[in-house]
Amino acid sequence: MEFRDLKGQYRVLKKEMDAAVLKVMGEGRYILGPEVMELESELAGYVGTRYCITCANGTDALQLGLMAMGVGEGDAVFVPDFTFFSTAEVVCLLRATPVFVDVDERTFNMSPEDLEKKIGIIEQQGKLRIKCIIPVDLFGLPADYKEIRKIADKHAMEILEDGAQGFGGTLEGKKSCSFGDISTTSFFPAKPLGCYGDGGAIFTDREDYADTVKSLRIHGKGTDKYDNVRVGLNSRLDTLQAAVLRVKLKAFDSELRAIQEIAEEYDSLLKDRVRVPFIPPWYTSSFAQYTIQVGNESAREKIITGLKAAGIPVNIYYKKPLHRQKAVENSMIIKAQCPVTEKLSETVISLPMHPYLEKAEIRYVAEQIERYRER
Ligand SMILES: *Cc1c(COP(=O)(O)O)cnc(C)c1O
Repeated sequence: MEFRDLKGQYRVLKKEMDAAVLKVMGEGRYILGPEVMELESELAGYVGTRYCITCANGTDALQLGLMAMGVGEGDAVFVPDFTFFSTAEVVCLLRATPVFVDVDERTFNMSPEDLEKKIGIIEQQGKLRIKCIIPVDLFGLPADYKEIRKIADKHAMEILEDGAQGFGGTLEGKKSCSFGDISTTSFFPAKPLGCYGDGGAIFTDREDYADTVKSLRIHGKGTDKYDNVRVGLNSRLDTLQAAVLRVKLKAFDSELRAIQEIAEEYDSLLKDRVRVPFIPPWYTSSFAQYTIQVGNESAREKIITGLKAAGIPVNIYYKKPLHRQKAVENSMIIKAQCPVTEKLSETVISLPMHPYLEKAEIRYVAEQIERYRER
């Protein structure tokens, strides 16, 4: 059984994929070839933003977004404590200060209540400018943008949506990667929409941000690459990867429908045995991960050992709250209190999840969980 069956997906798309890739190789426009612009316009159309600018990976996308917003030293940037390291890493790279916000126990996403609380503490300290919030659409579910937007407006802050795992999720019919002043995603192979290497994208409705990001991704170019008006990055999406993504984007909605069915199947088999993912009303998830919660760390250990012995690949996202990572030790300005993240880091398990998972495989996973769970 595969945790995420990328080879199986390739077998389904092979004919179209091989033709698309070979075409790029024959045409020779390997950097910013026509497929890149075509993909950008298709992605903007899919997500519903005015602009999409692709780049080299999801981490660069976050960094480019923060750079366009002018985030730097002396700025407080609010990030969830329960996420992949990138979300805080880029903040530190730009010498801004990450402030860790706890998450909601049911959705795994940034808690608006704790966000208010942490903003209050930073305001009271009076050492940093309150600048920006980076909500993460964790495991495929958009964050609580209605509440977070209210808080952002109240404090004149901007939102950078980290939609690296969120692509395809929705809130009231609006798609993930359309909720931030700038939003970003990743095309790392295992993400909901993945390419065959690294890739990422930035989405925005603001022309000034789009123009700045287009400059930043090519060494801060002015009129051309040899006219440099700001310090930027070399961060572009390969034409080959754009060709791969155009094929996958066409198949994406039908894959999402399969994912929904698989999630429902998991839910119905597991809901009386463990805590299954909670998708609030008016939301859909693209299930970058299907993540369950069990009672405690030793119960988790038992299930994981059992599942692995039964040939079922599982992972823990995430074992360590960000505020406990050694790399951010020195950039923390307040002692992070994130009890929900602490608890989740001891109780979550992510199960195999991809559009090509078979009913029999789902049943087998559920049986093995039943066998090894603590009761
Ligand atoms: C994967 C991921 C990123 C980084 O994307 P890369 O393409 O691997 O650089 C950022 N944030 C979150 C939440 C992610 O899951």
